[in-house]
Amino acid sequence: MTEMQSNNKTWPVVVIGAGPVGLALAGDLGWRGVPCLLVERGTGEIHQPKMDLVSVRTMEFCRRWGIVDWVEHAGYNRDYPQDYAWVSSLSGGYEFGREPFPSIKDEPCPPQSPQKRERCPQNFFDPVLRRFVQQSALVDERHRTEFRSMKEHERGVTVQLANLESGQEYEVECQYLIGCDGGASSVKQALGLQMAGSPVLTYTTNAIIECEGLEAWHDKKPGYRYIFIGPEGTWGTMVAINGRDQWRVSLVGDGNVRTLNEDDMAGVFRRMLGRDDVPFKVLSVMPWIRRQLVADNYGRGRTWIAGDAAHLTSPTGGFGMNMGIQDSVGLGWTLAALVQGWGGPRLLQAYEIERRPVAIRNVQEATNNLKNMLSPRDQQGQLQGAFEPGPAGDAARKAFGEAYTAMMKREWHTVGIHLGYRYEGSPVVVPDGTPEPPDTVTTYEQTARPGHRAPHVWLKPGLSTLDLFGRGFVLLRFDPKVSVEAMQAAAAQRGVPLQVNDIGDAKAASLYERKLVLVRPDGHVAWRGDAMPQDALAVIDTVRGAA
Ligand SMILES: Cc1cc2nc3c(=O)[nH]c(=O)nc-3n(C[C@H](O)[C@H](O)[C@H](O)COP(=O)(O)OP(=O)(O)OC[C@H]3O[C@@H](n4cnc5c(N)ncnc54)[C@H](O)[C@@H]3O)c2cc1C
Repeated sequence: MTEMQSNNKTWPVVVIGAGPVGLALAGDLGWRGVPCLLVERGTGEIHQPKMDLVSVRTMEFCRRWGIVDWVEHAGYNRDYPQDYAWVSSLSGGYEFGREPFPSIKDEPCPPQSPQKRERCPQNFFDPVLRRFVQQSALVDERHRTEFRSMKEHERGVTVQLANLESGQEYEVECQYLIGCDGGASSVKQALGLQMAGSPVLTYTTNAIIECEGLEAWHDKKPGYRYIFIGPEGTWGTMVAINGRDQWRVSLVGDGNVRTLNEDDMAGVFRRMLGRDDVPFKVLSVMPWIRRQLVADNYGRGRTWIAGDAAHLTSPTGGFGMNMGIQDSVGLGWTLAALVQGWGGPRLLQAYEIERRPVAIRNVQEATNNLKNMLSPRDQQGQLQGAFEPGPAGDAARKAFGEAYTAMMKREWHTVGIHLGYRYEGSPVVVPDGTPEPPDTVTTYEQTARPGHRAPHVWLKPGLSTLDLFGRGFVLLRFDPKVSVEAMQAAAAQRGVPLQVNDIGDAKAASLYERKLVLVRPDGHVAWRGDAMPQDALAVIDTVRGAA
């Protein structure tokens, strides 16, 4: 199809912004058979990779999409140790403490998942997602194309775009418009949506540094992330970007604006090293503002937002993109249901009701992590002792290091954040009256309570319960004697894709707790019971957003 022909048709969905969240949404839509136009004003090249932690939940989605292998072979050195360490400097400085982790390759999957987190920085992860997008003939990705404005009308949305190469402006029609266009989202502005929270936590400056064989220039054990603490408190961090020769250096900063250039950041790197005779190159510098903001609304009518457009968070914890990808998966099945005609009007309302509380919880947790990381700044008086030589200094370092190490564990062990988010009070989930379990951070107990992520159990080697979910609704039946016909008939009547899976596994039966469990296309439990509900059609209408 030529650009002109594709401009003349009505797109089911137009996605603005091909960052990781827009790419994931477009890829998910293509995977679900929904045509979509993906618009990106940049070229797709990444000079300053931001995210690097791909959470266990995002990897579960990658498993569903069949792209785990691509992530694992994206180019990051998976043999590189993943330790976190807090030091005064790398060469000759003090090491206050360390949280050891195996390399990503050697890290086992947590018992709650068939996958594990990955370390795949954005310059490796975005190309994987783009390859996923390009795998679908249904997605048209246009670079150097900018969203300008939108006008919603009865049948859809008219979107004005500009080709940044030719300067030409043109319009496209779509049924739904989704803004995945980052923190300064123009789609959000066009909707007039406001964000609430803290617009400035810190003014931070990042630099990508190339330094061959850095490990040979210092005496600390290798690590994925170093936190630098001086007598004035926490002042910088260094993160392994490719597990070889690239490092992201951050001067954490505070609430005061600072403008730093390449020379300044070279000085920051030298202070981190503790020596000035190491050859390196500053590849790029990026000032950015750390914020804690969540949009008051995620959209209305036919236009919605996702990812950083909807929530901005401190990177402490690695939640930003991962919750954005969860937004994409939430929107993916919702939009497919609407475009394919079996979804009702409450689905998009439910998107906001389900996803916004997750963002509020995660941005708060991330700011808490930031406060913990920076807390040595509040102890400057006491910290002084930790920089004195001799036995008194050793004792002060030990006391400080042990307390800091214990406190920081909450940021490093976050399985509850990534798997434990739940859709309490969602209008498209049927509650079963059981009490809400505690929302934990460092631990997670799987539950099939409605609104929660359906639990993982290995059904046979290589086959997880999670592998059954994704395209349509799935009704798990743990007792073949229980009839499911009423729900099958209700789903057929409404055109809702529903597959029944008989599960004979005792461990799964005990974890899912009911004889019947209805799982949505995003992998969350929508309903459960020991027998068919009295009105199966009412349940189907609720979960498809038409009740
Ligand atoms: C230092 C740092 C480290 C981080 N580490 C992690 C981590 O480990 N894990 C994690 O989950 N998150 C992390 N994050 C957060 C993560 O990077 C973001 O949450 C994520 O990039 C958001 O993705 P997005 O697609 O929503 O937005 P963006 O990545 O901002 O992408 C938006 C896209 O929209 C395009 N665009 C904007 N306006 C228009 C327009 N008008 N027309 C067309 N296109 C437009 C932009 O060019 C851009 O490509 C980190 C962030 C920082 C700053």
